[in-house]
Amino acid sequence: MGETVSTVFSILLLLLMFAIAIIWIMKEQKESKKMNKIYSVISISRVTSVLDISRTTGLAATETRELINKLIEKAKTNRDFRIMRNAYIDHQHDKVILDPKAVNNVFDRAVDSIVGGLFPKKEKRLDWTCSYCQTLNRARLYNCHNCGAGKPAPK
Ligand SMILES: [Zn+2]
Repeated sequence: MGETVSTVFSILLLLLMFAIAIIWIMKEQKESKKMNKIYSVISISRVTSVLDISRTTGLAATETRELINKLIEKAKTNRDFRIMRNAYIDHQHDKVILDPKAVNNVFDRAVDSIVGGLFPKKEKRLDWTCSYCQTLNRARLYNCHNCGAGKPAPK
């Protein structure tokens, strides 16, 4: 009899631990969703006023501040949040101050990747000026549309 009780008790304990684990994971996921929201408002829309961030994300101002601080903490080790590296909340103006170095790095990289994607270096095609009649020709032409002279060889 005592054995059954202890077995039931162990099972209940296990279930309880399982439930706690699930609740904890769900809470973490919820929080990380909120943090991603805040991060995209800051990084994409460049909104830095805490109240504006809270308005945009629909989160309470206190929670927004807490999560911004967590984001700043995370940015130290997590490259996904690198815009927030060395950032801090200016409490006097209730504003997130970003480290220009961190912002520029990300911005430069984004520009590089967009430009690199649109104009791959191998197939750089530029309009060209005819060396005989100085007419501007479209990149796709191999002969001047005005005088028919050949396109100069790329330098
Ligand atoms: Zn020409």
